[in-house]
Amino acid sequence: MLRRTLLLGLCRGPLGRGLGTHRGGSILDRDGKMSEIKKKIQSILPGGDWNPLYDTSHLPPESSDVVIVGGGVLGLSVAYWLKKLEKPRGAIRVLVVERDHTYSRASTVLSVGGIRQQFSVPENVQLSLFSIDFLRNINEYLAVADDPPLDIQFNPSGYLLLASEKGAAIMENNVKEGAKVCLMSPEQLRNKFPWINTEGVALASYGMEHEGWFDPWCLLQGLRRKVQSMGVLFCRGEVTRFMSSSNLMKTASGEEVNLKRIHEVHVKIDQSLEYQPVECAIVINAAGAWSGQVAELAGIGKGPPGTLQGTKLPVELRKRYVYLWHCPQGPGLETPFVIDPSGTYFRREGLGHNYLGGCSPTEEEEPDPGNLEVDHDFFQDRVWPPLAQRVPAFETLKVRSAWAGYYDYNTFDQNGVVGPHPLVINMYFATGFSGHGLQQAPAVGRAVAEMVLEGHFQTINLSSFLFSRFYSGEKVQEHNII
Ligand SMILES: Cc1cc2nc3c(=O)[nH]c(=O)nc-3n(C[C@H](O)[C@H](O)[C@H](O)COP(=O)(O)OP(=O)(O)OC[C@H]3O[C@@H](n4cnc5c(N)ncnc54)[C@H](O)[C@@H]3O)c2cc1C
Repeated sequence: MLRRTLLLGLCRGPLGRGLGTHRGGSILDRDGKMSEIKKKIQSILPGGDWNPLYDTSHLPPESSDVVIVGGGVLGLSVAYWLKKLEKPRGAIRVLVVERDHTYSRASTVLSVGGIRQQFSVPENVQLSLFSIDFLRNINEYLAVADDPPLDIQFNPSGYLLLASEKGAAIMENNVKEGAKVCLMSPEQLRNKFPWINTEGVALASYGMEHEGWFDPWCLLQGLRRKVQSMGVLFCRGEVTRFMSSSNLMKTASGEEVNLKRIHEVHVKIDQSLEYQPVECAIVINAAGAWSGQVAELAGIGKGPPGTLQGTKLPVELRKRYVYLWHCPQGPGLETPFVIDPSGTYFRREGLGHNYLGGCSPTEEEEPDPGNLEVDHDFFQDRVWPPLAQRVPAFETLKVRSAWAGYYDYNTFDQNGVVGPHPLVINMYFATGFSGHGLQQAPAVGRAVAEMVLEGHFQTINLSSFLFSRFYSGEKVQEHNII
């Protein structure tokens, strides 16, 4: 059972908790007292002005039922669904800890905003199908009274996946349940999209509905606005430590395991050496590309190799470049989100013959993830040649800008990790989606909230996405990883 916390008891004034819990006076009395105290402090401070060092409103509360590490799209989606599904309303206190409120390195805002149904694993199809419903009806889910409606800028242009002779059989066998997909021969492809050179293409798969791209920033801000209106608390800081208690247990096979429960999260406050402990019942690891590091802070993976205790969360930073180019002779408004057999992808960006795209490097080519600088040679050597081969008009393109972002890359099978850790029993994951976490976030947030509140998945069974697969070795075999 989650502890009920009293919001009133945790309100903070400039001198911390004491003022927030003041009873018996009107707000005006209290404000009067607060300004008296401020005046007293001002009179003894050098300079005389109100000193922001004494303002504690930026600090997290001393306790929260749920602490979400990471305020990207996945963390915010979990926060949203926890508040939406909680019973009774206001039952749980949720705190989101985000170290960078500009989101300068967050995958969510550096992604290319694509959503598709063309996956081979049924769970992935179901996740994306729910998400498209969420996006289409975003103002039913995320409306906030007196605020303007959201415009997610959805472009329903479909994904066009191209397969070589080798990949054609897999493409044919892909799950299409619930996803309206049309398979096309090279000739049909030429008829529909005459600007494509079909050399080396044996089969194409075109999404007829529920696919396209949208504005990730708008989804992020919409979620943030909504969860704030639902009472979710935010704190600008970095989670640097977990305090936990442990229990030594024996499994049926006689293996000794250490069950851990986190009871306190340490939050290092932005631009300060200070840290603040937050007592909690549940921790959600939604730290994106950094979630492997956050898991390590909780001791995950720090056991003998080959044991469950020694199994790491295999999620790490992988740098991916996105290039934006202009090409007046390029394909027009009907351009879908094209995925070439070489792995190179592109889509239209706006209406002015601008396009964006890129290509994942091979394992050997993986760039140093230590910074987000762009390698322009990568475009010349690896992206442009297959692009120009597939769309001859792209011979004349001019690159206008570029950026790099991090995939929250799951090195084990490039699919999401959802649900609790088997040993650190109150840490739940919503991470590791590699290149498709943005589009699945609405459904994943709901799945994690169901797990936290009900103890099992209710709407989509994501048991195959649990952490335990990293120990048992059972991969989620998704063929359409981009
Ligand atoms: C170039 C590129 C293209 C992509 N294209 C697509 C696409 O077309 N479709 C799609 O579905 N997906 C796409 N993705 C993937 C998608 O962006 C991610 O899977 C998704 O955004 C992950 O969301 P997140 O909330 O987990 O991560 P993030 O958005 O990175 O959020 C995690 C947050 O956690 C914070 N954090 C980390 N550690 C701590 C800590 N210790 N304390 C406090 N805060 C912390 C970080 O500051 C960060 O803001 C793409 C990714 C990239 C890089």
